[in-house]
Amino acid sequence: MVEIPEEPVYDVIIIGGAAASLTAALYAARRAMKTLVIAKSIGGQAAMTDVIENYPGFLSIGGIPLINKMLKQAMKAGAGVMYEEVNGIEEVPNANDGKPMFVIKTTSGNNYKTKSVILSYGKTPRTLDVPGEGEFGGKGVSYCTVCDGPLFKGKKVAVVGGGNSALESAEYLSKICPKVYLIHRRDQFRGFEYLVEEVKSRKNIEILYNSVVKEVKGEHTVHSIVVQNTVTNETREVPVNGVFVEIGSVTKTEFIKHLVKLDQLGQVVVTNNAETYYPDKDDVRPGIFAAGDITQTPFKQIVVSAGEGCKAALQAYNYLA
Ligand code: NAP
Repeated sequence: MVEIPEEPVYDVIIIGGAAASLTAALYAARRAMKTLVIAKSIGGQAAMTDVIENYPGFLSIGGIPLINKMLKQAMKAGAGVMYEEVNGIEEVPNANDGKPMFVIKTTSGNNYKTKSVILSYGKTPRTLDVPGEGEFGGKGVSYCTVCDGPLFKGKKVAVVGGGNSALESAEYLSKICPKVYLIHRRDQFRGFEYLVEEVKSRKNIEILYNSVVKEVKGEHTVHSIVVQNTVTNETREVPVNGVFVEIGSVTKTEFIKHLVKLDQLGQVVVTNNAETYYPDKDDVRPGIFAAGDITQTPFKQIVVSAGEGCKAALQAYNYLA
């Protein structure tokens, strides 16, 4: 049985620290809800973006400065922030009004009590799962070009993936690195056309189509990668010092799958108003809301996440009222 703290009792606990969470926190706190954000770190996908030119109100802004503004605004409105990793949510009996109460558990061993929950912790980077990837994590293998890219200035690097993240990564790195290999498992990209054209136009980007990374090699740090052409089956060793893995992301669902309905991709299924469903029936799950990239929305955009965070907070407010 989970230990239930007496006090404080939050009106809403928001799990996650990026655009959806911080917007939810802003709106919840401005509605005078006792609001706590619990996040391993602040930033998410947005903070991994070098330059953002499609967030309304800013002609151009870096991902990290934008997220920092959101954090500051949410805290100014009264939201609390705890830097911890959530690893459990339990519904516990509530003697007062018949509505559920939840205890949020973290890996630090703390328990937090709340009347409602907003799931908005996005996704975590997908890994290649090849030999050497784990060993050289942080020693040449990176999942965040914006964070780690500047460390590879003047060096040869590889980017793996064929979506907007990989294209943006290759485009950015081509400005600071003499040679960028863009390795994609198919012969067509799934990113914006203008980005594809931009990448194709860069002289120092070599695109390896129909290619997969089989191994990351090095000594202390990365020296090369082994790449296989999936059409010819030929392998070659490509000398690089950095490998940027930009192959999408996965949802961590272990601690929520007993609470809410997920789709085949492990994304939280929500109503138009950010409400969740029970896992085994079509009824709305009282007290648990979800927003942003963790939901089944096909549009993984910062402005969409922010809008959904707003909806989740206002719906949580209506629910408690
Ligand atoms: P994504 O769109 O899911 O693309 C992932 C890419 O990695 C795909 O090309 C996929 O190949 C490849 N891939 C997946 N698993 C792989 C594996 N095990 N080995 C090798 N390659 C693998 O992910 P994303 O690029 O991170 O983008 C995520 C979302 O954020 C998208 O909706 C995207 O539009 C959005 N985003 C938007 C912007 C922007 O608006 N500026 C910037 C970045 C991202 P296949 O093509 O063969 O499936």
